[in-house]
Amino acid sequence: MILSEIPNILSKNLKYLSKPLSNQLINKINTDTRFIDKNDIFIALKGEKFDGHSFIENAIAKGAIGVIVDHEVSVISSKRITQIIVKDTLIAYQEIANWWRNKLTIPIIGITGSVGKTTTKELIAAVLGVYGKVHKTQANYNNEIGVPKTLLSLTTNHDYAVIEMAMRARGEIALLSQIARPTIGIITNVGTAHIGRLGSREAIAEAKCELLAEMPKDSIAILNHDDQRLMETAARIWQGKTITYGLEGGDITGELLDNQILRVEGIDFPLPLPGRHNALNYLAALAVTKQLNLDWNLLTQGVTVDLPKGRSQQYSLSNNIVLLDETYNAGLESMKAALQLLKDTPGKRHLAVLGTMKELGEASAQLHQEVGAMAEKLGIDGLYILVDDPEAQAITQGVKTIETECFPTHEHLIERLTQVIQPGDRILFKASNSVGLNRVVEAVRDLIDKK
Ligand code: ATP
Ligand code: MG
Repeated sequence: MILSEIPNILSKNLKYLSKPLSNQLINKINTDTRFIDKNDIFIALKGEKFDGHSFIENAIAKGAIGVIVDHEVSVISSKRITQIIVKDTLIAYQEIANWWRNKLTIPIIGITGSVGKTTTKELIAAVLGVYGKVHKTQANYNNEIGVPKTLLSLTTNHDYAVIEMAMRARGEIALLSQIARPTIGIITNVGTAHIGRLGSREAIAEAKCELLAEMPKDSIAILNHDDQRLMETAARIWQGKTITYGLEGGDITGELLDNQILRVEGIDFPLPLPGRHNALNYLAALAVTKQLNLDWNLLTQGVTVDLPKGRSQQYSLSNNIVLLDETYNAGLESMKAALQLLKDTPGKRHLAVLGTMKELGEASAQLHQEVGAMAEKLGIDGLYILVDDPEAQAITQGVKTIETECFPTHEHLIERLTQVIQPGDRILFKASNSVGLNRVVEAVRDLIDKK
């Protein structure tokens, strides 16, 4: 990309240039002065706690050849370089990302859904890695800043891009879909995350389906057949080509054997991550390869995925004790999936250590109660609940027969767990990340292994 191309990319967002632009080659577009290299363009974004405009001097000192700003900034060195003054710097960032994306002809796979986005992204990236060079969303760069960042770090050497798209409100996925223009759009499911803000499950379904509504009409939708609400809403919004996957049916139907093997169309695939929910996530990955005409036989030896901490993580301790660490986050659907995984993990007793699912708004009490009811239905052997706020207490209201204990602090919970855990136990830990149940996992691992 050359510097003088930028005004055309920015179209109506451009206000004026502080001086004419040269034809210099741009190294990269950057929003963070800590990572500025020579010949970069620095875009000054504004957030609640930061304003990139205060770092202009620094960006220039480190070698930026141009800055995109929403007002002309006068610092000592700013006369040396061109300032591109725009109405909105975030929109400028998104416009440039979209321009770059439009230059590429590789498959761009966009993923949204209430749960399982990161896991599905990692599974797809691992699978596509067998066939070519994959670029994927790093860390949590899945929003209006992260998606442009991901697109702008795509190079012409990549064969595939796998992009996670997250939302908190209506319209956000639509914007991300317009920027990334996926050639394949995947929706993992429709759950209850953000129900407080969106109002109803139907509204959540519609918000996820913005991905389809805004992607190019010749793109392919890949949808979870087993999620009825998703299928119904998508059918209203998307008339283009669709591939469905599921354990209960769909164009690509899988059969889960021993929680470890996924059988599809007579081929056995080793499942990289355990559980029914991960079987569904893997089916989405298989659907992608099918759409791209890639040979499934290359996958029968299995692929490995390395998930970020607290997701589908298992620790085998002494005395055949296994901890299932799902402390990264929690909502109703992932709680249910994790309880099911616990129950499906062969062992002597199945215990669940649970905490609050945050950000559920008015529905909170009822959804916590549903978690208790699910534990009851599955016949979990014991529930240990960290009541860091009153919401978690509601879990106990869904329970009649399971032995249930509540704890006011992490320390009380840890102390009790070290007393009750026995050889052969399987213990699930799950709550929203901010509950800090990962500390309990760490402590229990240490204490049990010292015993
Ligand atoms: P976030 O909104 O935080 O980005 P995400 O959609 O990326 O979440 P993941 O990080 O992949 O979701 O998974 C979070 C948790 O949800 C996992 O630890 C697992 O317990 C559960 N999970 C993953 N996939 C599914 C699924 N398909 N259905 C239900 N639960 C799932
Ligand atoms: Mg995620």
